[in-house]
Amino acid sequence: MNERSSSNSQYINVQSSLAVPSEPVVAYITGDGIGSDITPVMIEVVNAACKKAYGEQRKIDWQEVYAGQKAFDLTGEWLPKDTLDAIQRAHIAIKGPLATPIGGGIRSLNVALRHQLKLNTCMRPVRYFDGVPSPLKKPESVDIVVFRENSEDIYSGIEFKAGDALCEKLISDLKTVYSVSNIHYPKQSGLGVKVISEPASKALVRRAIQFAIDQNRKKVALVHKGNIMKYTEGAFCHWGYEVVVDEFGGEKVGGFYEIENPHTQEIIQVEDIIADACFQHVLLRPESFDVIATMNLNGDYLSDALAAQVGGIGIAPGANIGDTCALFEATHGTAPKHAGKNKANPSSLILSAEMMLRHMGWTEAADYVLQGVENAINDKQLTYDFARFYEGVDPISTSAYGQAICKRM
Ligand code: NAP
Repeated sequence: MNERSSSNSQYINVQSSLAVPSEPVVAYITGDGIGSDITPVMIEVVNAACKKAYGEQRKIDWQEVYAGQKAFDLTGEWLPKDTLDAIQRAHIAIKGPLATPIGGGIRSLNVALRHQLKLNTCMRPVRYFDGVPSPLKKPESVDIVVFRENSEDIYSGIEFKAGDALCEKLISDLKTVYSVSNIHYPKQSGLGVKVISEPASKALVRRAIQFAIDQNRKKVALVHKGNIMKYTEGAFCHWGYEVVVDEFGGEKVGGFYEIENPHTQEIIQVEDIIADACFQHVLLRPESFDVIATMNLNGDYLSDALAAQVGGIGIAPGANIGDTCALFEATHGTAPKHAGKNKANPSSLILSAEMMLRHMGWTEAADYVLQGVENAINDKQLTYDFARFYEGVDPISTSAYGQAICKRM
């Protein structure tokens, strides 16, 4: 049996054709709040890993680009066009967390970045690191990669405010023009439109299956709520199976579809599962999940719930991937009350950088980063958020944690 080579393999990229020079430009956004605490530490760790792996042969040319408060202070814009252009030129970028500006005219900078850079797939690997406090009895059985569609669903931003004339008209049209009369609309109802398309659904499922093939994963679960939302979530599942059959030669065997991995001749099982059942099962028997492909909202909830199972979102990495560029990011927010105190946990951003190194094909450097993080946590070199769960463990600062990782590569 050709098993996954190591726990490291889950972060390997889904775009293996990327051609990377020996000194690639990587664009980075420091981020708001704790971004200025964690981003320099992430850069220090990545530089140390590259140096250890390649000496002077390969190194990253870091280029700071601006978004969020820093961009607004410098340019009067929350997300300047120069930033988007620089990320597109670099093809690879990494970002700290961004605050959502209140009254700034942008709904969410993160959503805007994903839309404008056409980063249609969000990839969230979730695995356990020994020594991280977790609510599960056997957290080590969680090793799941969530592929979440990034551009559609209820996140499309098509919403109508309760009481607005347009909203009232739409409600009236639904009743009269579209004969949706069996639904009761109380006064002051807001409306949202859920968009699920065939091309976006198929692109997401295709990427998830290709990842399963490349990384020798054994199962792909299509997660949906198609029993209730037949023409959106149900259609996602239907189109997903079309990809399985038409593009990967899948065949129905019992309750599953089976695809033969062309590299190993092993079978990858594809099944679909209703979202609420999936939430139960990932908690009760996480070992039966491997790769999950789902839409935006389900994926948002699922990836954070899974991250909590293995110790919280402070340590979960993430990537947003499109056809031409990829943006790696800390999955937590700006934690404003801890900003500037050199105490936040930089692991989420550091492990996102580890995914980035694998995406670039710099696997040796990625291995050093992972080894450093694993060893630091094992040695109870912990920032406050983890240290508080252990009696007698004094928390260390963000920068000291970075140094602890570098020493343990
Ligand atoms: P948050 O910033 O994630 O912080 C919530 C709590 O989580 C913190 O108070 C802290 O808990 C813990 N935490 C988060 N990151 C941590 C880290 N690296 N190290 C240690 N503890 C950490 O969530 P929020 O307060 O709801 O959001 C604040 C802002 O961030 C908002 O403007 C929101 O829009 C934005 N946001 C951005 C992103 C992104 O850029 N991807 C994602 C989510 C939210 P304790 O105080 O209990 O230790």
